[in-house]
Amino acid sequence: MTAPLQRPNKKNPVCKTRQPTLPPWTRSRVALGMTAAAAEGRFELQRCARCQAVQYPPREACHRCLCIDLPWVEIDGGGKLISQTRLLHSHDLYFRERVPWRLGMVQLDAGPTVVVHLHGDVAAPPARVRVACKLDKAGMAVLVGFPAEEVPNMADDRQLRELTCNPQFRRVFVTDGKTATGQAVVRALAAAGADLIWVGHAEPWKLVPGLAALQALEQVTLVPLDVTDQRSIKEVASQVGAKVDILINTAEYHRAFSISARQGTDIARMEMDVNYLGLLRLAQEFGPVMKARGADGQSSAVAWVNLLSIFALANFPSHGTYSASKAAALSLAQCLRAEMRVAGVRVINVFPGPIDDEWNQLLPPPKLAPTAVANAIIDALRDGIEDVYPGDVAQEWRMRLKDSAKAFERELSVGSGT
Ligand SMILES: [Zn+2]
Repeated sequence: MTAPLQRPNKKNPVCKTRQPTLPPWTRSRVALGMTAAAAEGRFELQRCARCQAVQYPPREACHRCLCIDLPWVEIDGGGKLISQTRLLHSHDLYFRERVPWRLGMVQLDAGPTVVVHLHGDVAAPPARVRVACKLDKAGMAVLVGFPAEEVPNMADDRQLRELTCNPQFRRVFVTDGKTATGQAVVRALAAAGADLIWVGHAEPWKLVPGLAALQALEQVTLVPLDVTDQRSIKEVASQVGAKVDILINTAEYHRAFSISARQGTDIARMEMDVNYLGLLRLAQEFGPVMKARGADGQSSAVAWVNLLSIFALANFPSHGTYSASKAAALSLAQCLRAEMRVAGVRVINVFPGPIDDEWNQLLPPPKLAPTAVANAIIDALRDGIEDVYPGDVAQEWRMRLKDSAKAFERELSVGSGT
């Protein structure tokens, strides 16, 4: 049975930090379909449109009838473990540092037989298992065999923790604790067992409700931080950057304007300064040191979370300049993800629908409570998901964009009345 996770020992300062290594990441283009689904927490395989055969590994044509119409469908994951092995030696650098490593073969109820990383609590074969698709340190989809039923301390399995970023016993930096969402994230992290939480706050002379209550939490340390000021970020990064395991960027500037509703570019400039350039400055100051700590034992740097918006994916005209700044931030976040991947640090992008705050007052419900956004971030860290769409509005936008981005753009322009 998996033992509950213990607080990691302090690192010996004499020991050199281990260089990050990655598991093998070469995949065919078609196999990246599994990665796309795993990034959002789903297990999908190809199913032939003609003969309905489900196939694994992914291929260009059906293994049974050679049909090339192979839509991706969600798979239930139930199956039977038919064999297992324990890897004690490997020529691969990543696995050589991590052996012993448990692997198994599972006959899925859906048809194919798959090779899986095996959770420590799965019984010896033959046994029922539940297969899920996760992203590994290289950001590629891998299959994991879990016990069919929930067992105690399931998330603390050593192999599983290589695929997830559970905040328990980790040190987290939240860039803005003045917003309702930032405060909800800090409270959720404390409840999830984070060891230390640094909370940035700009303009320390401006008191906002809730900040004193955060400061009262024993894990929390408030740090003056202005994401529009490179020097301020540099100073904070030099003090705490080398200790941060998870960075959550909650800093954002949001005003509800379209192009013609306001003269000049002051507001748009501020939105870009915080939402886009703020992320760039943070990435420049915190990124390199987090990359260097991607394999620092049990307390490695593991994740970088960006609070974006579903408006990053399609412009919402009544919040037009804000949407544009979030679209710029999304593009930069993709660059950050590519750069952090080589160190095994996961970049998680969160795309909430409208949050129930002062700048969305005029939008009709449903609106997301800040605590719902915070819980979605904690769940994504625990489950190892990298693209998160919290709330009904975000889910609906996602589906509509998938159907037809052009039709949805027209619908939004008509709906806005502009
Ligand atoms: Zn077929």
